[in-house]
Amino acid sequence: MSFLKEIQRRRTFGIISHPDAGKTTLTEKLLLFGGAIQEAGAVKSNKIKKGATSDFMEIERQRGISVATSVLAFEYNGIKINILDTPGHKDFAEDTFRTLTAVDSVIVVIDVAKGVEEQTEKLVEVCRMRNIPMIVFINKMDREGKDAFDLLDEIEQKLGLKVVPLSFPIGMGYDFKGIYNIWEKNINLFSGDSRRDIEETIEISDLASSQLDKLVGEKAANTLREEIELVSGIYPEFDKDKYLNGKLQPVFFGSALNNFGVRELLDCFVEIAPKPRPKQSEERLVEPKENKFTGFVFKIHANMDPNHRDRLAFIKIVSGKFERNKPYLHVRNNKKMKFSSPNAFFAEKKEIVDVSYPGDIVGLHDTGNFKIGDTLTEGENINYKGVPSFSPEHFRYINNADPLKSKQLFKGIDQLMDEGVAQLFTLELNGRKVIGTVGALQYEVIQYRLEHEYGAKCTYENLNVFKACWVDPKNSKSDEYKEFVRVKQRFLAKDKQNQLVFLADSAFSLQMTQQKYPNIKLHFTSEFD
Ligand code: GDP
Repeated sequence: MSFLKEIQRRRTFGIISHPDAGKTTLTEKLLLFGGAIQEAGAVKSNKIKKGATSDFMEIERQRGISVATSVLAFEYNGIKINILDTPGHKDFAEDTFRTLTAVDSVIVVIDVAKGVEEQTEKLVEVCRMRNIPMIVFINKMDREGKDAFDLLDEIEQKLGLKVVPLSFPIGMGYDFKGIYNIWEKNINLFSGDSRRDIEETIEISDLASSQLDKLVGEKAANTLREEIELVSGIYPEFDKDKYLNGKLQPVFFGSALNNFGVRELLDCFVEIAPKPRPKQSEERLVEPKENKFTGFVFKIHANMDPNHRDRLAFIKIVSGKFERNKPYLHVRNNKKMKFSSPNAFFAEKKEIVDVSYPGDIVGLHDTGNFKIGDTLTEGENINYKGVPSFSPEHFRYINNADPLKSKQLFKGIDQLMDEGVAQLFTLELNGRKVIGTVGALQYEVIQYRLEHEYGAKCTYENLNVFKACWVDPKNSKSDEYKEFVRVKQRFLAKDKQNQLVFLADSAFSLQMTQQKYPNIKLHFTSEFD
């Protein structure tokens, strides 16, 4: 197959949801359609269960599993689909944010009973900011839930989306009769049998026909006719370009557990979802079809096998072909590297591959050369943008608990930060080290991993910080900036890239600081223009 055809047949996306909405179940059904797995239960959830916060083994087990499910690839009707795993647990939200830099589109799963939940809001906001094309899947239609129109309203309001339903439920919960596929103009009747993987659909070109009454009963048929009329009155026509530009989001209804409505979603997805997209680097826009390989690291995973201390760096291929044993430039280190055993992912397995294409993810064994955001090329000096750090939510001093192991401690901290487990800040005043995380769970993970992987011990000490704000160095020569640095010294730190960060201790002090130093720009993410 030609290089261009290989690119065109790839779809790389992520499924995002609040925990428990049905992401794992949906992923599994999609894999069943692709014939990539034979039975249900093969895809492991990477969920951290409630109450397991202090259960290190649980964390480790979960982390081990999520290596396997980091990328799940399968073929469907000649299309190569790569699903990137996005942890739903809020303590791993940063991991998900970073993964979203490597997807070309997303599917948002919403629980029909719970509606829009907190994590959905946060993740969708990131996608919206980047204009990532989104398809919404409303799940669990076999249960009683919110009225479809109310839920569509809620999605528009809370998520700031512009929706257009491409399928519509006939009843719900106990009365759930099936789904009318607006996109294909047919009806799929619900039998509640999760074992079937091929659905029987019935063509309905005219909703007015009495065939509909026979299929679902007169009452449900009339309701559907009214609702579909409402749909066409309220919602715009589906427009593929608007979807691709992140301005319009098609919605499907179904029940992942019952494998119902999933085929409709998948068929529409392969038809409309974007092929690998060009990516902006600091230097220029890079097109997938360019001959020379470029790619970037969006995730690093530690190997859980203590005999193999290496890590797996996940690279999204942006342009060109990635080939085994070919020398590539690690741009940040200005060093040539060759990879003898790049991993590609297929269903829940990984295997060594000779060639991968734009849209694909390869896993490279790494002994500590990579950090998140690094770019690999065939020689050109390109740096991909867009793997920013977000302000952490929690801050603690980290102290060395075993003076004989300080080297191990520093190496461990260094590598864990490169993996993106947490962020390190060094206080300007006294050089003390502060670890910032999105969730409290990370502190336990760090402590456990420092001990088990690096032989170092640490303790934490609380520190009162509300938010980390990256200080824009734009006016760094001004008197105002000099005064800010002098007066606020106690609250200033450097991040790992040596960028200056202001650690505000409360919302109030942040506001006062902004008022007092109006020309000093403070940012909540580490990348800004
Ligand atoms: P995740 O946290 O988003 O990955 O959610 P899971 O896929 O693990 O699903 C959470 C729970 O919801 C599990 O108990 C599933 O069996 C259940 N579930 C998923 N889809 C459906 C559905 O369509 N209907 C019903 N009734 N339950 C579902």
